[in-house]
Amino acid sequence: MNKHHPGASFAPASEHDTTSPDRPYWDPKLETQSRAEWEAMKLALMKDHLRHAYENSPYYKKSFDEAGVGPDDLQTLEDLKKFPTINKSVLRERQEALPLLGDIAAVPEEQVVYVSASSGSTGVPTVSPFTAEDFDEWMDYEARQFWSSGLRPTDRYAHSLNFSLFIGGPCVLGAQKIGALSIHAGTVPSERLLTMLKTFQATAMWTTPSYAWYLGETALKEGIDPKTDLAIKKIFVAGEPGGSIPETRQRIEELWGADVYDYYGLSDIFGACAGMCEAKDGLHWAEDHIHVEVIDPETGEHVPPGGRGEMVLTTLKKRARPLVRFRTGDIVSFTEETCSCGRTSQRLMGVHGRLDDMLVIRGVNIFPSDVEAIIRKDHDFTGEYRIVVERVNHLDQITVEAEKIVGFNGTDEELAKRLKDHIKAVTGVGARVSILEADSLPRATHKAKRVEDRREQVWTT
Ligand SMILES: [Zn+2]
Repeated sequence: MNKHHPGASFAPASEHDTTSPDRPYWDPKLETQSRAEWEAMKLALMKDHLRHAYENSPYYKKSFDEAGVGPDDLQTLEDLKKFPTINKSVLRERQEALPLLGDIAAVPEEQVVYVSASSGSTGVPTVSPFTAEDFDEWMDYEARQFWSSGLRPTDRYAHSLNFSLFIGGPCVLGAQKIGALSIHAGTVPSERLLTMLKTFQATAMWTTPSYAWYLGETALKEGIDPKTDLAIKKIFVAGEPGGSIPETRQRIEELWGADVYDYYGLSDIFGACAGMCEAKDGLHWAEDHIHVEVIDPETGEHVPPGGRGEMVLTTLKKRARPLVRFRTGDIVSFTEETCSCGRTSQRLMGVHGRLDDMLVIRGVNIFPSDVEAIIRKDHDFTGEYRIVVERVNHLDQITVEAEKIVGFNGTDEELAKRLKDHIKAVTGVGARVSILEADSLPRATHKAKRVEDRREQVWTT
């Protein structure tokens, strides 16, 4: 849709201009450097960062010593494999052992100016600390990312994410940094948000994919056509895989008459660590801040570029709490090819699911996002669905409940068969399909819970 922002009628700006509101890049030299320059930059940053971690974090001192490695053992980026990994439960455990910041932190608390917190599955909030410098670096990255998605000083940006300790909250300052008029909307009731969007004639907003859909449907029910009565032309989404599933993204775009840009965030590092540029072909990664490895979750070996594997992250600059080889549990794929926008950073080509979302049905791995893509491609469905997994007579059974649209002409039997065949063809899993009336599944106002696993014991491969 909108490939050009309002400034596009001016003469093209130089690629090296860093002041024009019409320049294509926020930081031209960085964003278009060669892959060799990226690698050299990351190696230099990583050497410095590992030394900072080893010398200032009691946790890393002990963990590196126990593994028999030290900062000098890193001579190439590949050498990172020698270092031990950590995960979310280690973060939680170290924080509980030494409240508030834990001994992974590498600066004294007086240097920390901000913490975000994420509740996680056990309900114990884990905090992510920032020094003043970390916070500035983060805002600069958010600004760069927003710029790549076409946000400009002429935009009115409605930040519709939770502010309460939520890592996405401060991202609004990234929009302010580029000069956009920023509306700190937060999570208000949808009627109120719609009134705000209409009154302020906001041109951009950030929310989750489920909520963008819900809000668009709510608007229509209230007699507001998002395409004509509102001015939203850009929607940034994060928090669920939907924004990178083309079928889901396109349906939100059709509902709003706006472009949808997927962002990926990780509460333990940054609000957004990657985001789509205007080409919408993968998510440009914050490569000068976070080094990525993609590994086979079973063997720990690196997966070749383009392959699916678990994402493991190492921060390169975050002084308050370095993360070295943090296992995210997200199953992803990346490319290092130059994007059509001219940016050369690695691109996240999809979060295919969470390791703990992955369902193993009779020995076959299946991700809910695969089922979602199939349903959303078929316009005889509303797009809302639920996956129920049960164990019947010792065999795993998966039932996909999908809503048909109002006014569907055919029979439920043929619609169910079509969906069943598609699921079988794409995933290799034989699913039962149950066709529901439109509006019978609960609508998500936050992150959608679309999988109900009723099995008592779930085997993983
Ligand atoms: Zn791009």
